[in-house]
Amino acid sequence: MKHIVILGAGFGGLQAALTLEKLLKRRRSSEEYSVTLVDRNAFHTFTPLLYEIAATSPETAGDLKLQALVSFPLKKLVEKRNIMLVEDNFIALDLDCKTVTLLKSKIEFEYLIIALGSESYYFDIPGLDKYALSLKTFDDAIRIRDRIVSVFRTAERNVRIIVGGGGPNGVEIASEIRQWIPELKKECDQKNCGAEITIVEGAARVLAAFDEKTSERAMKRLHALGIWTLLNTRITEADGEKVYLSNGTSKNYDVFIWTGGVKTNSAIDSLPLKKGGRGGIEIDADTAPRDTTYDFVFAIGDNALLHHPLTHTSTPLMARPAMIQGRIAAKNIIATITKKDEKYRYSFRSYPYIAPLGGKYAIAKVGKLYVSGLPAWIFKGFTELNYFLSIMPFWTAIKVWLKGLSIFIRNDRLG
Ligand SMILES: Cc1cc2nc3c(=O)[nH]c(=O)nc-3n(C[C@H](O)[C@H](O)[C@H](O)COP(=O)(O)OP(=O)(O)OC[C@H]3O[C@@H](n4cnc5c(N)ncnc54)[C@H](O)[C@@H]3O)c2cc1C
Repeated sequence: MKHIVILGAGFGGLQAALTLEKLLKRRRSSEEYSVTLVDRNAFHTFTPLLYEIAATSPETAGDLKLQALVSFPLKKLVEKRNIMLVEDNFIALDLDCKTVTLLKSKIEFEYLIIALGSESYYFDIPGLDKYALSLKTFDDAIRIRDRIVSVFRTAERNVRIIVGGGGPNGVEIASEIRQWIPELKKECDQKNCGAEITIVEGAARVLAAFDEKTSERAMKRLHALGIWTLLNTRITEADGEKVYLSNGTSKNYDVFIWTGGVKTNSAIDSLPLKKGGRGGIEIDADTAPRDTTYDFVFAIGDNALLHHPLTHTSTPLMARPAMIQGRIAAKNIIATITKKDEKYRYSFRSYPYIAPLGGKYAIAKVGKLYVSGLPAWIFKGFTELNYFLSIMPFWTAIKVWLKGLSIFIRNDRLG
């Protein structure tokens, strides 16, 4: 049996595994090749709903209930499929010996897909990694929620929440926490405390990676919600009480969330493959690393850096490109096995974009069309359902989606 090993069971890795398994079965090659999916966790995380988890009070839903809405057991997702799961931590890769070293074992492989995702990046700003709460995993979301609850329980004045970074994650979580404030205030009503949420953004506008119209709409919504924005301002340092700003001032905080930077998982830093900005492995459109003789390796999603041939911009760190690249890598492995000359290639496109901004309100851009408010929020709900349907049996997907809807709707206190 020859192993096709996929490192990481996130958006890209899971799609790669499912596609490989299907294609191998179709070609009756399952006897010869096995698909092995490695992840340090026993579950697949649906990151787009983490902001909801971070702003759901423990009274609305307990941890286990919440976990079931965004962390899906891998065992269930690959049930009845010829995919071997290995729950272990990736440590090292020897490309010459075609061996992956994990914490508890070693695996030899014939083909390898690297899909280990990304991590928060702090730009070496002093104090950030120590004092800021990041939002990358379910546990991170619970940590943010618990911190907010405990601060409100003991507050004797306004609670100050600072969100570093006005990108999609920053504006989403700030807006959702804002929805939660009326309920949180009950915890400290006698003491007449309120809350102040401030987004600190280095660029001249929030959602700076998107077009200006989207930013304007987001700003309008943030202001309507009473969220402060400090634009053209960078956080230069943080300690346990304050963030220090590039304009020479500082701001006290009770809760400090950092969503301002992301980089490729440092687990791949030492791999002998050419890397570019934010540490991503430079790949060609067929998802194979550039400038390498190792033609049995592929890198996808947040681990990959693929430049548009004309604009030279790289593919965004988003779920959709990771999934598409996962399928492309899988198809190219099958093409190599079956000795086909044809290569599948990633084609650049602009992806629909949806930013939920508190309650039943979102802004979306689909092609040239801008939608905002309830219709965009409904559209967001259906894209989530669509993803669940792509990885789970029909009724399980519907159940998870409806359960999430029923819990998260209770968070929408301001509409
Ligand atoms: C809070 C948040 C919200 C987001 N919202 C959106 C959104 O709305 N829309 C969108 O398109 N994108 C969104 N993203 C971005 C999206 O999640 C990523 O771009 C996408 O997950 C990348 O897919 P991937 O397969 O490259 O990595 P991931 O999906 O991150 O998967 C990486 C996998 O590798 C595993 N892993 C990591 N290190 C190791 C190790 N050492 N050993 C073993 N396993 C390991 C992890 O457990 C994980 O399962 C969001 C991200 C965050 C953090």
